[in-house]
Amino acid sequence: MQKGAILVLSGPSGAGKSTIINAASEQIGEYYFSISTTTRKPRTGEENGRDYFFVTKDAFEEDIKAGNFLEYAQVHGNYYGTSLKPVREALERGKLVIFDIDVQGHRLVRAKMNDITTSAFITPPSLDALEQRLRARCTDDEAVIVNRINNAKDEITAVGEYDFTIINDTVELAAKQFVIVAKAARLKQSTEDEEKFVTQWLANN
Ligand code: ADP
Ligand code: 5GP
Repeated sequence: MQKGAILVLSGPSGAGKSTIINAASEQIGEYYFSISTTTRKPRTGEENGRDYFFVTKDAFEEDIKAGNFLEYAQVHGNYYGTSLKPVREALERGKLVIFDIDVQGHRLVRAKMNDITTSAFITPPSLDALEQRLRARCTDDEAVIVNRINNAKDEITAVGEYDFTIINDTVELAAKQFVIVAKAARLKQSTEDEEKFVTQWLANN
């Protein structure tokens, strides 16, 4: 049976993570996209339960207390978190679980589930290109864009913590690279599986 695996994608807001996942979705086989919970307001076109679970700060803090998050962080002044239960269920069903989370979230997932985790940092070719894309997306006002650009200057310094870097110059090429990374993520063996394999390999002589 195929084993579950985790693929963490990070990168500045506006890097093209959603665009690349959508462009590659038919070529990466069955996967489960982890829908995060957030206290930020929905953007035009975003749907509760599809893009995020949009909740109040109080509700989010209740979930923290109840231990419902695999990881959570404050990004751009809002809470964002990954619920543990659906992720655990998808892993048990052998799915590739894809996270779109920030660099703090990546560190927390590594600390808890390092041996089944592969990660990729996605970024436009330059800060200038990021700014142009955020403006072209037309979903955020000026103050939000400035905040996201400032955050991106910090986030890019964490690129070395990731297994792969995908530079999103053209969507076509970035999606091709993403397919390769997703296939590699599925091949990653947990420490437990490696130990079992060695035991069986030695026994069959
Ligand atoms: P993220 O999910 O990382 O926040 P999006 O996928 O929403 O980013 O992309 C941000 C904006 O940039 C969107 O308007 C998208 O259409 C555009 N975009 C994504 N990739 C490219 C690209 N390679 N070239 C030009 N524009 C792009
Ligand atoms: P946006 O507001 O543009 O949707 O997301 C802002 C940032 O929050 C992005 O860097 C995104 O990857 C990150 N993010 C989204 N969901 C989560 C989550 O569940 N946990 C963490 N740690 N970061 C998240």
